[in-house]
Amino acid sequence: MATSVLENVYDPEAFRKLGHELVDSLADHLSACLAPSEGQKVMDWQLPEDELAFWHAFDSKEPTEIFNTVLQRCIHTHHPKYIGHQVSAPAPITSLSAMLSALLNNGMAVYEMGKAPSALERVITDKLCEKLGYSPDARGFLTSGGTLANLTALLTARREKAPENVWEAGYSQKLGIMVSEEAHYCVDRAARIMGLGSEGIIKIPSTVDFVMDTSLLDTYMQKAKAQGIYVFAIVGSAPSTSTGMYDDLETIASFAQKHKLWFHVDGAHGGAAIFSPKYKNTLKGIDQADSVVIDGHKMMLMPAITTALLYKNGNTSYTTFSQKADYLLLQSQEEDWYNKAKRTFECTKLMMSLHWYMLWQTEGETLFDDFVTTLYDKGIQFAKTVQQRASFELAVSPMSNIVCFRLKLASGKLEQENALNLNIRQQLLEDGDFYIVQTKLRGKQYLRVTLMNPFTTETILEQLLDRIEEIGRSLV
Ligand SMILES: *Cc1c(COP(=O)(O)O)cnc(C)c1O
Repeated sequence: MATSVLENVYDPEAFRKLGHELVDSLADHLSACLAPSEGQKVMDWQLPEDELAFWHAFDSKEPTEIFNTVLQRCIHTHHPKYIGHQVSAPAPITSLSAMLSALLNNGMAVYEMGKAPSALERVITDKLCEKLGYSPDARGFLTSGGTLANLTALLTARREKAPENVWEAGYSQKLGIMVSEEAHYCVDRAARIMGLGSEGIIKIPSTVDFVMDTSLLDTYMQKAKAQGIYVFAIVGSAPSTSTGMYDDLETIASFAQKHKLWFHVDGAHGGAAIFSPKYKNTLKGIDQADSVVIDGHKMMLMPAITTALLYKNGNTSYTTFSQKADYLLLQSQEEDWYNKAKRTFECTKLMMSLHWYMLWQTEGETLFDDFVTTLYDKGIQFAKTVQQRASFELAVSPMSNIVCFRLKLASGKLEQENALNLNIRQQLLEDGDFYIVQTKLRGKQYLRVTLMNPFTTETILEQLLDRIEEIGRSLV
């Protein structure tokens, strides 16, 4: 019997067969990555134009072949020599929750379009709030990425702390936020999207250790006032992206309290350290933050994209996008935590709570502790290894799993050293054996690693340093 295209596309048996094949090849991929054979690459490097040409020429219509070709032509976060950007090698179970979410496609904007996952979102965010040390009045939700979560938190801050309701009336005076010069670029971008302009982003210089120099806060506040800028918020980085260094949240909290500012913590990367008894001291003072961002797809083993935005006073989370000035909660006498789109920037979003719940429910908090503690330990250990080699220099002694270092030259000429480190990183990318990234700090070009994979061994890290020295010698 002939079937229509539409019947074919929805055929459950074809899905079953293809799904099993895909899971099989992903499981093979995982075992190959976790115990890679000699010479197995993190990525097979191609120039963008060559990759484009490949796909223009690609003509297979076989689903399995298409999947497998994509699989081969991507970077592999589960490979222990993936030591680059801060995305997690997701726990495999979360790729299954992603599949369930994708097939059901519950839109999450209103309760009935995500009944179970909306309730799970409340369960998860309540637990996260408790972990932060917040009271039962705290609330949170999940949203699509740290970038969007930071913007959302700053919009709430403006609503709560600015002397006027900008959401209704627009700006009648200059407003500003304070943030370390080392903060993630998305905070700067959020401020500009909000119309604060470059004047409204008051960048506090950092110390030699790349953390906000809080001794300058009073001076910068006076300067802002003299320029007619009303500061309504201050952002602490926990940690900053480039160097992985945590701002002093306690000191920022008392400054915020003194000046009645909204205190926001960007813990996209390292908020997860709240689960680690060994490293949670880096977050001291976070319980005083009005809002906190934690990415699930960085230090919490989840696939992109899922971010928790948590509010110390749950009421405030309802005011961000409300057209009326009063609190929805007080207005209706009933808190409709389950209609998510009232509080999120997005209308439709992913059923992302399922990832958090699967990990938390099946493994418990110790999983998050193990993950963060293991990776932070590895970062700190790697820095010691770097220091043992005279040819290298660390940017700073790390507080997390992010480590910046550079190869030095006997000549000590900065321009040459910068070019050398840039070329080394490019060569590593093209080799495809290791994946690391780069960053420029105070005019110096650094190589940057983030230990994101618990299976990256000390031997691998020694091999990386050997290879860098080898490339260095060949380039000089
Ligand atoms: C990664 C990161 C962000 C951006 O988060 P996305 O989830 O990539 O949008 C913001 N702030 C910090 C400190 C980060 O590390």
